[in-house]
Formats: sequence, C-alpha cells, structure tokens
Amino acid sequence: MTAQNTPTTRKLTLVIPIYNEADGLRGNLDEILRHVSELPENVRADLLIVDDGSTDSTPGIVQASCEQRSDVSLLVLNRNFGKEAAIMAGLDHVDADAVVVMDSDLQHPPTLLPKMIELWSGGADVVEAVKISRTTRSGLYRCFANVFYRFFDALTGLDLHNHSDYKLLDRKVIEAYRSLPERTRFFRGLVNWMHFPAARIPFEEPAREAGESKWGALRLLKLSWQSISSFTALPLQLVTLLGGVTFLVSLLLGAKALYDKLSGQALDGFTTVILLLLIIGSVLMFSLGLLGSYVARIYDEIKARPHYLLDRSNSRLPSMAGNESDREG
Ligand code: UDP
Ligand code: MG
Repeated sequence: MTAQNTPTTRKLTLVIPIYNEADGLRGNLDEILRHVSELPENVRADLLIVDDGSTDSTPGIVQASCEQRSDVSLLVLNRNFGKEAAIMAGLDHVDADAVVVMDSDLQHPPTLLPKMIELWSGGADVVEAVKISRTTRSGLYRCFANVFYRFFDALTGLDLHNHSDYKLLDRKVIEAYRSLPERTRFFRGLVNWMHFPAARIPFEEPAREAGESKWGALRLLKLSWQSISSFTALPLQLVTLLGGVTFLVSLLLGAKALYDKLSGQALDGFTTVILLLLIIGSVLMFSLGLLGSYVARIYDEIKARPHYLLDRSNSRLPSMAGNESDREG
C-alpha cells in the first residue's frame, strides 16, 4: 500500500489482454476508465493492459494513454503468445489486493464492477461473471460451446457452462494461481478447480461493436482440446475401454469364423475381414493420435519454456513493482 491510501483503501487492478484491437480501442478504454472513476472511494483502481504481440497500432494507442494517465500501465509481449499467456503475464505483474480480468471489447461490461467489488468486500475470494445467454454468437458457435462444455463437464467434473474469463480474484487467489506449475493453462477451468469461495453475477453478453473475434474455428478447436487434455487423462483410459470392446467383438467374430471353418462355409468371410481391418486400423490410429497428443503435452511441459517473453522497451510500467518471474525470459 502506498502513502496515499487510507487504512481501508484497497487496490484493484484491471488486467486487460489485447491483441490487434486498434479498431475502437480508444473509445473502449475511455468507457472502462469512466466506470473505474465512478467506483467507491475506498477502492483505488488502475488498468494493466497486456498487449499480446499486436501487429497493428494497438500498443501505440495504449502508450499514448499511459503518457496521459498514471492509472494506465502497459505490458507488451514479444509476440502473440495467446490470451492465456497474456492473462498470466498480467497476473505476474500486479501488486494489488484484487484483480479483475476483463476483455477489451466491452463484451465484459464494466457496469458489473461495483457489484463485483461489493461481493468481494462481502467475503467472496472469486467473483465470476456468468453469461445468461450467448444470443450474440452464431448458432454454430453456441452449438460448439455447448458440446465442449458438456464434454468438459463429463470428463473433468467441472461445470463451466456459460462461464467467462471476466472474474475478480482476491490476492490469495492470484498467489495460488501463480504458484501452479503447469505451462498449458485454462484460466477459467483452473480458477474453478482451485475452489476458493466464489460468488456469481449473471450478465447478458453484449455483441462486439468494433473489430472481430480472434477465435477462428480451428483455433477454438485447438484450444478446446488443449483445455481438456490439460485437465484430465481420462481419454487415455477410454482407449483401454475401446481396446476392451474391440477384443469382445473379435472374440465373437473369431468364434463365428471358427464355426464357419468347421462347418465348411469358410469362404464367405471376405466382407467381415475387410470391415475388421478397417475398424481395427482406425481404432489403432485414433488411439495412437490420442497418445501422441498427451506425449506432446508432456514434451511441452518438460521443455519448460517461459509462458511469455516481455518487450520491455515498449512496456510502460510506471507504478508497478514488477514481479519478476521465471515465467518470462
Ligand atoms: N486476445 C488476446 N490474445 C489473443 C486473442 C485474444 O489477448 O491471442 C484478447 C482480445 O484482444 C480481447 C480478449 O482477448 O480483449 C477476448 O478476445 P475476443 O473478443 O476475440 O474473444 P471472444 O469474445 O470472441 O471470446
Ligand atoms: Mg470478445
């Protein structure tokens, strides 16, 4: 705490990951800052914007803001490391009593901030904003999200339906999150997994007004599989189950083949042989692929590369102590 704080003043930092958001960014930041200035007096809030390797004029726009205001800081990553790494970088560099992780496109409405702070003051260590509906998203996106969360729930026992990354985390949650050793991170899943006392605020997700969503179909698919495989090894056990089922089927077909042979009808079996080859071949390939993807995950973890690398010359961290971390290079 700094000298300007009264004993009851608490510091809140908004961590905002951004990637190629130049379109509409200035207006969005102004809107967020307007809400921040209306927060209760006992909360001293500031913004830590994490530029995730933007290739447009995004960093310049934020740097201009940093020059005008002491409550805006900027952390620039060397390249696009992904939103999870950008969140991690932000959490590594805050020195606050609580953090709110928020998107830059106003799809995480800053109007919820006072309620979040109220719930935090009431004792919740985590305050999660949960979407009421996804009506602003395409039908295909909603369908995909539903299948993913159902699957995730079935495999891991964590129900993240309609959850978002818009969360307030108390200092002790931030510290616990930083102490998790793994490199592949799924922020909303891990916060849920840590199971600190949490409160929820339902919200209608507004449509994005400027720019486009950064998640194409392939990127979403990759992220989904990464999230599942970083949380559970159950799919590997399913391979064993698949092996068991194939074994049972082969016992039946083996008995039939033997019967055909003994009763002199052995020549009829060609279709069965072809089908068997195809089925067993694809089951084997599928299982190998699944195994490979877990081996790749182990390989990534063992390499232990940093989560992100900082571009210090373009970063602007006037008020922050800078929590130097072995996660960065
Ligand atoms: N984002 C990021 N790195 C990325 C992709 C996205 O920091 O590689 C940021 C993005 O600028 C935005 C937030 O993450 O502030 C959410 O992204 P987006 O709005 O594209 O996601 P959606 O709302 O469609 O889930
Ligand atoms: Mg968005």
